[in-house]
This record gives sequence, C-alpha cells and structure tokens, in this order.
Amino acid sequence: MVETTPLIAALEDAGYRVTGPRRNVVGLIAGRSGHFTAADLVTESNRRRLGVGRATVFRTIEVLSDVGVVERIDLPSGEHAYIACQPVHHHHVVCSGCGRTRDVDDAGLRHVVRDIARQTGYRVDDHRLELFGLCPECQTAASGANRPGPSR
Ligand SMILES: [Zn+2]
Ligand SMILES: [Zn+2]
Ligand SMILES: [Zn+2]
Repeated sequence: MVETTPLIAALEDAGYRVTGPRRNVVGLIAGRSGHFTAADLVTESNRRRLGVGRATVFRTIEVLSDVGVVERIDLPSGEHAYIACQPVHHHHVVCSGCGRTRDVDDAGLRHVVRDIARQTGYRVDDHRLELFGLCPECQTAASGANRPGPSR
C-alpha cells in the first residue's frame, strides 16, 4: 500500500494544482498493493462512484509519472501497467501470479552498466530493468497445488 501524502506533495512541489479529481486518482493509486493499469483505476472509480473519468485518470497518471512517483512497467503480456514509487532510481521484481511488486536497488547492476558502456563506447545515461517471476506466496500456493494428493 502507498500513502497519498508523498504523491500529493510531489505534485505540489512540481507546481501542479492538486484538484479534487486528481486527489481522487491519487487515492485510487494509494489503494493498490501491486501494479495497476489505467483501466483498473477507471473500474475502481466507477465502483466507488467517484465520477473520475478515463481522461482524468490517464492525465493524472501521466503527471505523476512526469514527477517520478509513478513508474511504467511493461508486462510480459505486452500490457502497460504502473506502480507508485519513490522518485529515486530503482528496479522492480514483479509477480506474474498476483502482481505484487517489490522495489530492488541498483547495487549489483552498476558494474554491469559500466561494463556495457566500456564495451560499446556509449555514454549510458539511463536504463530500465524489470524482473518477472513468482513471489514466495505464489510459489507456496503453486507447490501446494502440484503436490500429489493422498494415496488411494
Ligand atoms: Zn518502485
Ligand atoms: Zn504472487
Ligand atoms: Zn538501475
């Protein structure tokens, strides 16, 4: 779960007006525990009868991602999802079962990036990396399902 306060503060710091509808979208994002799509937020808004339209949801996600507190994740399915984040560089490990996402820091990657820069001669300014797999909970659930039943 994410707090609304840092998201709102990030918008205000960047000089955006935090209107009622934007505040509502931030509230919807704060209610999610894993990644979400714009469509998820629209559905949730309708369910809660917030009256926040699709366009507002899309625009607010865009603004939040501009200020660095929402990041886009490209799912293996080709879908785009989003996740609320701290505005510092990091990576995500995403569960393909339940969507639960964890932040992972860059420590082990820095030297890989440096090697690639050296090999190619590029000055590497930025990179993106997402890791997908099953979270511990989903692994437990999966091994439970695969376990042979009681012998007959
Ligand atoms: Zn993150
Ligand atoms: Zn999972
Ligand atoms: Zn990184």
